[in-house]
Amino acid sequence: MKAGRALRCAPPFADAPRHGARGEPSLSLHAGGPPSAKALSQAPGMPNTYKNFIGGDWVGAASGQTFQTTNPADSTEVVAVYPRSGRSEAQQGFAAAGQAFPGWSAMTPVARGRFLSHASQILAGRKAALAQLLTREEGKTLAEATGEVQRAIDILRFYGGISYTLGGQTLPHDLPGNLLYTRRDPLGVVALITPWNFPVAIPTWKAAPALLCGNAVVIKPASASPALTCELALALAESGLPKGVFNVIVGDGAAFGEEVVSNPDVAAVSFTGSRPVGTSLYRGLAHRMVRNQMEMGGKNPTIILADADLDLAARLVVAAGFGLTGQACTATSRVIVERSVLAQFTDKLLARTHAIVVGNGLKDGVTMGPAVNPSQLDTNLEYIRVALSEGATLLSGGHRLSDGDFARGWFLEPTVLGDVAPGSRLACEEVFGPVIGLIPVDTFDEAISVANGVEFGLSASLVTRDFAKAMRYVDRIQAGVVKVNQISTGLALQAPFGGMKASSTDSFREQGVAAFDFYTRSRTVYLDYSA
Ligand code: NAD
Repeated sequence: MKAGRALRCAPPFADAPRHGARGEPSLSLHAGGPPSAKALSQAPGMPNTYKNFIGGDWVGAASGQTFQTTNPADSTEVVAVYPRSGRSEAQQGFAAAGQAFPGWSAMTPVARGRFLSHASQILAGRKAALAQLLTREEGKTLAEATGEVQRAIDILRFYGGISYTLGGQTLPHDLPGNLLYTRRDPLGVVALITPWNFPVAIPTWKAAPALLCGNAVVIKPASASPALTCELALALAESGLPKGVFNVIVGDGAAFGEEVVSNPDVAAVSFTGSRPVGTSLYRGLAHRMVRNQMEMGGKNPTIILADADLDLAARLVVAAGFGLTGQACTATSRVIVERSVLAQFTDKLLARTHAIVVGNGLKDGVTMGPAVNPSQLDTNLEYIRVALSEGATLLSGGHRLSDGDFARGWFLEPTVLGDVAPGSRLACEEVFGPVIGLIPVDTFDEAISVANGVEFGLSASLVTRDFAKAMRYVDRIQAGVVKVNQISTGLALQAPFGGMKASSTDSFREQGVAAFDFYTRSRTVYLDYSA
């Protein structure tokens, strides 16, 4: 296998070989941390106990209520215990952020960036332990989790370094003796709301630029996998970040949303999650005209043209459809294939699908983990039932795995459905699991039309050797992430990211320097020194 090909098929946050796990602490996550943090982690195999992080202190819910997460591969294992926070804790978080904002925003970007670089190093020292924790709580394989933790480390390193460039623009004025320039100012207190499927990459790609730009942050991670956001808070605290600059509230999403919508101190909201929640939050924010970005679901196609390298095509589809258990917003769920190569492609796809090893992501050799929880597993099974009732044919998988080692987890066979009609529910609605539908088409134009024929527009891929068709696809495909001969998942942290159509408010892009546009306000300064 060529190195280039291997890279293209690697999981989205594939771990770079140079970052070995040797020499890292086994699971003493918080050795050397401040006294308040040390109590958070227990011995290996024991549940961690986390609290909210407000104003630099770890505090429980006012009600004293807690909830726990369990391992999706073994639901008898409690992974962590959290406060069941409501609206009052959100209020405290925003108040703490409001108090911290003046001091934090008065620092230079370079000074702020140092905390991010330092936090990157702290996370790097804990990479192996954090990846294990991520796998135990969310279910993805250890290789995928290690790649994701490395991504968070790299994001912090990127924004720490680029802090030296955060600034505005100098423009020529019409008149001599005049200076005309723009400056970037922070917005104030920003609320970040994140999903469970990338529990450290997404919080980090929102929080790092938000902080670098001088904002104070209150983040609410998804309740299925909050551990890594708490660990991010710990690393930032240990980096010396001033108290109240970064706050974490764990608990009820709706209660947090109510506070976000009505609290006048919340200057901006960055949300990643499902379309229904994003839509309702967007409506709630409209009356205050609060700056926001909503990044939501996808129904991402990979198009296989007749001239494609079909081995490559099968490899890309399996990696993008079944990698991360299909639980990626950019996962391939529709495979649009020119009919003349359908049979040949299907054989190759099924051979690769049958080679997938489903199991506990901590075990060697496992290449696909479980669904995150029973509810997601039920959704997956329901969509398979619906697809079959709508005329699709089951080509592989389709069943829950529940014998032996699988009995205590939420495992599904990787599933391939054939003869999927473009207008069917399976072809139009996000499943968020390892379920792929094959949609045969007769021409390139029909392929583009089917690909664009859904409400979402997040990511798309085309497999072809025809340069002209590739460029026509780039011109016409309705997706924020446009791939050619690559997996539909996988992002460069330095590049802008966001969707189109129902996948996004399409207001601002995330990641890279594009994130600065969201997290700062631009002001224009006119200076006359001609007198
Ligand atoms: P979700 O919408 O159920 O939850 C997302 C977050 O919103 C969670 O933290 C949740 O607690 C919170 N929340 C729930 N109700 C709320 C409310 N009323 N007000 C405010 N916040 C509320 O999504 P999920 O199940 O955690 O994640 C899966 C979804 O995320 C999928 O649709 C997936 O496509 C999408 N996603 C999108 C991207 C992207 O960049 N476009 C990336 C990853 C995931």
